[in-house]
Amino acid sequence: MSFETQEISCGKCTVDVHHHFFAKESLPAFKRMIPNAEKAVKNNPEMHAFIDAMPTIEERAKLTVSEMNKSNVDEVLLMSFTGDIETVYTAHKMYPTKFTGLIPFIDPRIDSPEVLEEYKEKGAVAIKFYPGSWGAAFDFNDERVFPYLKKCLELELTPMIHFGVMKGGFGNLDQWPANPLELRPWLQHPDLQEQKYIIAHFGAGYLREIFLMAYSHLEQLLVDTSGSNDWINWSPFNNLTQVFEKTIIALTPQHILFGTDSGRLTMRHDVTLRQKGILEDLVTRKIITDEDRWDILGNNTKRLLFSD
Ligand SMILES: [Zn+2]
Repeated sequence: MSFETQEISCGKCTVDVHHHFFAKESLPAFKRMIPNAEKAVKNNPEMHAFIDAMPTIEERAKLTVSEMNKSNVDEVLLMSFTGDIETVYTAHKMYPTKFTGLIPFIDPRIDSPEVLEEYKEKGAVAIKFYPGSWGAAFDFNDERVFPYLKKCLELELTPMIHFGVMKGGFGNLDQWPANPLELRPWLQHPDLQEQKYIIAHFGAGYLREIFLMAYSHLEQLLVDTSGSNDWINWSPFNNLTQVFEKTIIALTPQHILFGTDSGRLTMRHDVTLRQKGILEDLVTRKIITDEDRWDILGNNTKRLLFSD
């Protein structure tokens, strides 16, 4: 069966493209992901209290839906940590019209490319890579990454990559701010010319590098807006409004995807409120049109990840 590519639009809707979802049932996956976590948590009473108070999948899914309503977020793409697909798949089945797609983490040190087939069947629309956590001997431009990207392209899954500064990952000494210029072998690879990449958090400190690549490779690059974006404090940009304005010029509004980076909180109302406010200001000052605003808030994500 084949479908004509049709214009996908959700009109004036907000889609959260970057939203971590985990629950009590995620604990075995956490242990697999961070082998020395238990030792690190042992002497951390705050972490203990957090783990003890973790809701079940059902509780968290329900809570997330009510928090989405408060922030006028219509759809959320649930991001699972590596090895935790069942948690987000369960939530997706509970609320398929709210949690419309999944974005599972892949760690090439642990997961094989074949696992992407199962993820796709369960509702994955993108795949999250976090190269800054892979350790010094394994960068994103490593040839061992190729089979994962090839599989993504074959299954129409868009890689979402967190380059740049990193928070959290307690007890993980492998952390390093990976540079998005490590995309070079893949952007120049003849077999991957159709692949697009979402770079999380405006590159988390590497926005200039994204602009440099976009000068010649714009068609393959998008950014998400998620998180506190406090990397700005260590950058030449003055504030988030300026980051939006520069990105709109360099990448166009159609390459920007709204996200919150919710995780410890079920919905980061601060992020939603702030970014919707900035977009309102940009529309008022005629930097973008009202249509551009809704493209950033939801339609770009729908077109990129949900078109047949
Ligand atoms: Zn995140």
